[in-house]
Amino acid sequence: MSESRRELRAPGQVKEITSLTNPIIKDIRALAMKKFRDREHLFMAEGLKLVIDALDTGWTIRTLVYAKAGRGNKAVETAAARTVAAGGLVLEVSEKVLSAVTRRDNPQMVVGIFEQRYRALKDVRPAGGDVWVALDRVRDPGNLGTIIRTVDAVGANGVILIGDCTDPFSIETVRATMGSLFSVPLSRAAPQEFLGWRARFDGLVAGTHLKGSVDYRTVDYAQGPVVLLMGNEQQGLPEELAACCDRLVRIPQAGRADSLNLAVATGVMLYEIRRGMLPLENSA
Ligand code: SAM
Repeated sequence: MSESRRELRAPGQVKEITSLTNPIIKDIRALAMKKFRDREHLFMAEGLKLVIDALDTGWTIRTLVYAKAGRGNKAVETAAARTVAAGGLVLEVSEKVLSAVTRRDNPQMVVGIFEQRYRALKDVRPAGGDVWVALDRVRDPGNLGTIIRTVDAVGANGVILIGDCTDPFSIETVRATMGSLFSVPLSRAAPQEFLGWRARFDGLVAGTHLKGSVDYRTVDYAQGPVVLLMGNEQQGLPEELAACCDRLVRIPQAGRADSLNLAVATGVMLYEIRRGMLPLENSA
């Protein structure tokens, strides 16, 4: 028996659960609700790869849940041993319980419950060639997850959520990040707090706006740190946020569409801002 397996089989370290009425399972299922996530400061990540990514990047695991079918799987047992070593709980559950926890018919074999993490805005201090994306009231979990994934892909530094945004720790957003959530620092701020922070930031704040007069390709983004400010899906940037930008840029469009999707516009902007920093040779 391997070291990790012996550790895992110690009495009391793996609980076997088959009932949906088990109180631990009820608490985990409640994480589908934002109110409960906010209260507990926890969230759920599905899939062995994501759980391993999270453990590797230092996120704190509280509970590891795996399907009975995962018993004997070396990677699952290693993740379980790491959970126990971190003081977390390991649950071996039936397929039925795992489906209920993930609200999926064909759930992943492993689910991790992790502590949420935000960086205080005062500790966000972009310098050098740093790029942060600031999102005004992003509402769609798919958009937010896609943006976090794109921020990770281009090597930008983090995301600031301004005002009433969709929850980055909802199951839909976490899924859409495809694991990038664990590598991209998140901060959040009320609009006034962001404006106060912005006043002390002396890099470039580039806002995107359908009425922007500047072609996004004509700005020199390489002179120092950049904050890219993106507007809400329905309303775009409100006046007070638009007014705090050094540049209001626009991405030209040719067809009949009124605007680009928020995540697409963010991707276009990030690739332009980071253009000189992304030689093909760096790709996997
Ligand atoms: N009806 C909204 C408006 O009037 O602004 C459309 C918002 S658009 C779906 C969401 C955000 O994506 C915008 O606030 C802006 O940040 C960005 N965006 C979308 N298309 C853009 C474009 N062509 N140029 C600049 N920004 C764009």
